[in-house]
Amino acid sequence: MPSDSFNTDTPFFMDAQRRLAASVASFVWREIEPHAAAAEEATDEDYRALVALLAEVDLLRYGVARPGAAFDLRSLCLIREELAYSSALADLAFVMQGLGTYAISQAAPEHVREFWLERAATGKAVAAFALTEPEAGSDVSAIQTTARREGDAYVLDGRKRFISNAGIADFYTVFARTGTRADGRAEISAFVVGARMPGFSVRERTRLIAAHPIGEIEFTSLRVPAENIVGAEGEGFRLAMQTMNTFRASVGAAACGMARRALDETLAYAQRRHQFGVPLAAHQLIQAKLADMVTALDAARLLVYRAAHLHDTGIAAEAVGLTASLTRAASEAKLFATEAASRIIDEAVQIHGGTGLIHGHTVERLYRDIRALRIYEGTSEIQRLVIARELLKE
Ligand SMILES: Cc1cc2nc3c(=O)[nH]c(=O)nc-3n(C[C@H](O)[C@H](O)[C@H](O)COP(=O)(O)OP(=O)(O)OC[C@H]3O[C@@H](n4cnc5c(N)ncnc54)[C@H](O)[C@@H]3O)c2cc1C
Repeated sequence: MPSDSFNTDTPFFMDAQRRLAASVASFVWREIEPHAAAAEEATDEDYRALVALLAEVDLLRYGVARPGAAFDLRSLCLIREELAYSSALADLAFVMQGLGTYAISQAAPEHVREFWLERAATGKAVAAFALTEPEAGSDVSAIQTTARREGDAYVLDGRKRFISNAGIADFYTVFARTGTRADGRAEISAFVVGARMPGFSVRERTRLIAAHPIGEIEFTSLRVPAENIVGAEGEGFRLAMQTMNTFRASVGAAACGMARRALDETLAYAQRRHQFGVPLAAHQLIQAKLADMVTALDAARLLVYRAAHLHDTGIAAEAVGLTASLTRAASEAKLFATEAASRIIDEAVQIHGGTGLIHGHTVERLYRDIRALRIYEGTSEIQRLVIARELLKE
């Protein structure tokens, strides 16, 4: 198992978090790595088994927030980094249980909350987060799915696309329009929708550039009991943003895991492969690339764990009047880490030459896996808009 001293060399972590990272790293190397290369052939059953495996070692609890309990973002980030080091699919199986339940943990009625949070944390139910629509991607307020109150239920009609876990999930946190505000913008509310509810269907499973269960779902006169509303009517937009704000830095952590793997693979390859009578690593142009790669990775990890540390200690910081912008820190972390990881992995492929393009080679897989991270949970462009907005506000 490759060694890594980042979390012992930096002050962001508590001892328990450092121990957690070490034990997750050895679990990943033992249980996840042997199956990582076969991600593209993974069936829904394999994916469910992956969720069950993560539950068995009690990792899912770090992703599923609990009302009243502090959400340990540093641990979440450390876990994502270790999982993504080996398998983007395992990282997804882990994080979706959190992303799909965060709004529920914050605002659902107690019995709804208890029911789904426990099932998600123990891997008995697979979660999903359904916000994006054909006409509403970056512009969340353009969503067209409607939820109309009818007696003791809401009736949902509409379509969602790019929904991770579509067709596998047992329940979805769905965002729908419940009205129009005075300023003409959509009033958005959140609902828990069970995959077995009549009127729910999976329109398609979408094949992406890399292994990632995702697709389109549809609601046709789907009746959701009124008690399944998450928060009050009109709180959906805030809950969706709060969810993404909380998880954003962790996307950066996953990117760091992938970049670290690319760097490790490349360091080994550059010392093993000889051209012009010496190892690739003896050529100064290659050394310069390696130096840039490790520097960018360190910078990315510093931003990610600064954001996670700020989140975890933010309440204390606010209490003493500090004005740290958690939103800006999270967006900087996601923006920089996903962009840097893409460049690092691209250079890893370059240093591997043709070998890096062979389908199934680790760096070739990373090259495809990293691409989505600059798009989901707010594209790089949207992160820049958020960062600038926060900066101009300060
Ligand atoms: C792998 C993957 C998993 C996903 N999982 C989920 C999920 O589980 N649940 C869910 O709800 N959604 C999910 N999504 C959807 C994802 O959040 C959206 O793809 C993303 O928000 C971008 O929306 P879009 O694809 O419609 O692009 P668009 O919003 O159409 O954007 C197209 C391009 O225009 C740019 N752009 C848009 N607006 C501006 C602006 N104001 N200024 C400058 N540039 C702009 C964007 O940055 C982008 O480059 C997933 C997407 C992917 C790829």
